[in-house]
This record gives sequence, structure tokens and C-alpha cells, in this order.
Amino acid sequence: MGVVFMGDTLFTWYGAFAESQMERKYRCSCWPEMVGGGARTCALAAFGFLLAGFFLLPEEGMTPLVNFLVFFRAMVAVTGLLPLILLETPYSLRFTPCLVAAFVICIGAYEAVAAVLTYTPGLEYSPPYTLLIVLLCYFLAPLTLKYTMAAGLIASMIYISALRVCVVHEWSDLFQLIFFFAIVNVLGTSIFIHMGKWRRRHFMDMAEICQLNEKLQQEVMHKEEVNRHLEHLSITDSLTGVGNRRKFLDMADLERRRAHRYGTPFSVVMIDIDHFKEVNDRYGHEGGDVALCELTRVVEAQLRGSDLLTRLGGEEFAILLPQTQKAEAWLLAERIRQVVAAHVVSIGVVHFSITISMGVTDVRMGRSDSVKGLLNRADRALYKAKARGRNRTEMYPFTQSDEESMV
Ligand code: GH3
Ligand code: MG
Ligand code: MG
Repeated sequence: MGVVFMGDTLFTWYGAFAESQMERKYRCSCWPEMVGGGARTCALAAFGFLLAGFFLLPEEGMTPLVNFLVFFRAMVAVTGLLPLILLETPYSLRFTPCLVAAFVICIGAYEAVAAVLTYTPGLEYSPPYTLLIVLLCYFLAPLTLKYTMAAGLIASMIYISALRVCVVHEWSDLFQLIFFFAIVNVLGTSIFIHMGKWRRRHFMDMAEICQLNEKLQQEVMHKEEVNRHLEHLSITDSLTGVGNRRKFLDMADLERRRAHRYGTPFSVVMIDIDHFKEVNDRYGHEGGDVALCELTRVVEAQLRGSDLLTRLGGEEFAILLPQTQKAEAWLLAERIRQVVAAHVVSIGVVHFSITISMGVTDVRMGRSDSVKGLLNRADRALYKAKARGRNRTEMYPFTQSDEESMV
């Protein structure tokens, strides 16, 4: 099959994609719509053709000849409606191009018959109307060039032959007629090919835009995923996997605002491992890391799903306890302290245990409070626990006056 047309290697000479796979894709995606369009245009043309018949009725009224022509015209119009009738059936894609071609041939036949039957010797015959119909057929049936060309040529030949037999007797008139129809068919074919190419270029552009869109969407999704991961990393402690100081500050601030708006209490427990430097000295930095991870696991096992354990830094942790009064928080802290003290950290054959000191405080209700103030108070309680010998839990405020002058 020839591929080159005017130096354009993308299309065959008849305007289809040179690459058969591309042409198949184009047909799969565009043909149903084009067949529908073709069928509707054909039905509209059939209606117009029928209507035109009534305008052409002679003044003398319905003679047998006129009756015959009206009946013939109606039959041709029915042929033009067939593609529309078939449209919702599975045969539509396959048969619409042939049916449109058949409609054009029928019009050609009608025009030929009408020209012969209504010819009055000495009068001019008028082929422009038929020429126009032949030209329109290339717009009507935009699907397959072979059907469209066949329809245009057959309609032209029927018309020319009929006129040659009964109307046109001069050779010069005949050649003129053939010349006009040839021009119309060549013009129609050229328009058909260019329209086909234009549609296919449009299809390629749309396909490219779709592809770019898809790629862009994938990139956006990937970036969102990366951002989510980065966001997670930015609030996660890399060693223990629990939230870091930033996470604690964010969540504590949220709880603080909730407490002030809805009056819901919450508490904070600050944890510090006792003599952790010794742990590092004795079992190495890696041993210390294992102890930090084990502590995280043990403490988390004691918490509710709504509680939040975070590592503030070094061997210092904080627990945020929503909807929890100070006294309840103290009880929980004590339980944690005991569980941690009883837990044995194992590194190979080496076993040891750690203890923790804790400071507990809660949000100030009815007065303004800040996360900084909360941490400060928990730290004071923690400091007191250290000062009192470690492996203990202390609560702030310690006295009534502390309560009144709390930071
Ligand atoms: P105290 O009972 O008074 O809290 O004594 P301490 O030794 O626990 O306190 P100090 O603040 O003197 O020492 C904390 C140690 O924690 C020092 C530092 O090397 C160690 N440390 C901090 N971060 C890490 C870590 O990520 N891994 C390990 N293995 N050690 C850490
Ligand atoms: Mg410390
Ligand atoms: Mg310590």
C-alpha cells in the first residue's frame, strides 16, 4: 500500500494512518461517533431530498408521471433513513458506509430517471443539482474512501449515461458533462483525504494531551506520596519510630486549644531514664539505643490508642494523655514506672534493666496556658523526682501556692 502523499509519511495516500496499529486505535475510538454523525447527516439529507420534491411539483398538479417521481423520491429518501434506523444495532459500524453510498447512488439514479422522463426537447437540462449531490456525498460519508468514491462515480456514471442516451446528443456536450463530474469527483476525493488527515491529526493531538495528562497525574501522585513520607519523617523519631518533639508540640497545642474551648482536661507525663549515661558506658551506645527502643515498646503497651508517646530528645520522652486528669495520669505513670523497672533488656547474652523518673502535670482549666508552660511544669516535677532519688513519679503543682502561681 502506498504510504507517501505529498511528502507526508505519516499517512497513506488516501489519508489513513500509515501505521496500521495507530489506524486501528483511531477507528476504535472515533468511528462510533463518526458513524453516528454520518447516519444523522444522511437522514437529514434524505428528509431534505424528500422536501425538495414538493417544491419541484409542476403547477398543472399530479399527473401519473409526477406521482411516479414522488413515489420514487420517497423510496430514495427511505434508503437515506436506513443508517439511522440501524444506528443502535451491532451492524451499524459495518454497514453504515455502504448504506450511505447506496443512498447516494439511489439519488443519482433518481436524478437520471427524472432528467430523462421530464426532458422536453429544445429545453436546457440542468446537471448542477446532481453535481452538488455528488460533491456532498464526500462529506456525507466520511468513513471509507472506497465506498464514497464508488458511490460518487457510480452516481455520476448513471446520470451521464442516462443523459447520453436520451438527452445529450452532441459529443461536445457529453464531454463537458463528463468534465464537470470528473472535477467534482476529484475535488470530493481531495476534500475527503484532507478531512481524514485533519481528523487523524486532531486525534493524535488529543491522544498526546491525554498521555501528558496521565503522566502529570502520576507525577503529582508520586510527589504527594513523597510529601506525605517527608511529612511523616519530619514528625517521627528515626530511632524509636514514635513521634518526635515537633509532633508532641503540635498535638499538645491542639489538645490545649480543645481544652480551652470545650473544657476537656488532658495531662502530660515527662519521662527521663535514670543514669542513662552509665547504660551507654556499660553496654555501649548501641546497648543504649536498644534500651531506648525497648522502653518505647514497653511504655506504648501500657497506653490507650488515643494516648501519644513521643521522644523529646536524648533519653527524654513525653506522653500526652487526652481526657485524663492529673491523678489518673499519675496512676498510669506509676504503673509504667513499675513495668519498666521489671522489664529486662537483653542484648545477646547481656541482660540489664533500667528505671525511669517521671513528672506529671495537667492543663490549667479556666485560665490561659501554653505548651511551653506545660512542659516547664512537667520538667519541674521530673526534676523533683530525680532529686528525691529517681525511679519515682512526681506531680506538679506540689502545693496550693504552686497551683496559684503556676507558670
Ligand atoms: P539522670 O539520671 O540524671 O537523667 O542521668 P543521665 O545519665 O540519664 O543523664 P544525662 O543527661 O547526664 O545523660 C544522658 C545521656 O543520654 C547522655 C547521652 O550520651 C545519652 N544519649 C542521648 N541520646 C542518645 C541516643 O540516641 N542513644 C544513646 N545510646 N544514648 C543517648
Ligand atoms: Mg536527660
Ligand atoms: Mg537521664
